[in-house]
Amino acid sequence: AKASLTQDVCFYEADMDQAVRARRRVTQALREALEREQFELHYQVQASVETGKATGYEVLLRWKNDEGRYISPVDFIPVAEETGLILPIGEWVLRQACRQAAAWAEPHRIAVNLSPVQLSHVDLPRLVHQILIETGLSPSRLELEITETAMITDMERTTHVLRQLKALGVTVAMDDFGTGYSSLSTLKAFPFDKIKLDRSFMLELDGAAPQSRAIIRAVLTIGESLSIPVLAEGVETAEQLAFLRAQGCNEVQGYLLGRPQPEADALSHGAAVIPA
Ligand code: C2E
Ligand code: CA
Ligand code: CA
Ligand code: CA
Repeated sequence: AKASLTQDVCFYEADMDQAVRARRRVTQALREALEREQFELHYQVQASVETGKATGYEVLLRWKNDEGRYISPVDFIPVAEETGLILPIGEWVLRQACRQAAAWAEPHRIAVNLSPVQLSHVDLPRLVHQILIETGLSPSRLELEITETAMITDMERTTHVLRQLKALGVTVAMDDFGTGYSSLSTLKAFPFDKIKLDRSFMLELDGAAPQSRAIIRAVLTIGESLSIPVLAEGVETAEQLAFLRAQGCNEVQGYLLGRPQPEADALSHGAAVIPA
């Protein structure tokens, strides 16, 4: 038993070693990516269900590595958050998105994702204020998307920061609604300007389970009662759109309307994005 324990410990240390080395590699690569400007922003259209017209664009980060391959944020944001690199990366995203949007012919809104780490580690209101002035983007054109994870770590501090952000004139959306443990209490703690219903509910809508329809209806009812518009993400089919429309959903986003694309391609769609 003793020998096997020693063996286990050795294996464990070898694993740890490997994990640490892998993390170091990614960290170093991310640092270089920032310096060498290997990050790009893609934009995905959001539209009003009622008018069928674009209401804004979600800004989604892409990393184009040395081989010219796009790496998904799902694969590098967690490492960036662990190492703190999300702070300079997140600042780059905000500045770049505001700078690009300020030059658009149409004054569409942009929705930028914020990491919980950004909310707890920087003077975000000051940074956002500074970037708005620097780029000349009207505050009303900037929406910040935050998940409830950002809220639960320190609810009091976070709501204070969010209130300061709103005082600048930007709007705040609750992202991934319904995936966490405390979505409802989070809604109670802060007056969000929008609820983003997570994509997982859209996936379930296609299944036979009647529960997902009931849950979507319930979320739309909550939004309506609190006068908070609801945007459904991950809308891929006309059936999903029809259901959401019938239930009074305000806005939609998903492959049915458009994939996340480089700035120029995303903007070339024109005003009507939902086919009549
Ligand atoms: P999210 O905020 O939930 O963003 C929506 C994700 O769903 C995006 O994945 C988008 O490409 C994808 N999506 C949109 N419509 C559809 C659809 O109809 N079908 C399917 N299957 N997927 C759809 P993406 O771009 O890979 O981003 C993943 C996550 O990475 C985002 O999830 C967000 O949490 C995070 N992220 C992206 N950019 C940033 C950023 O600049 N900063 C931070 N902190 N996080 C970011
Ligand atoms: Ca988002
Ligand atoms: Ca989501
Ligand atoms: Ca998310």
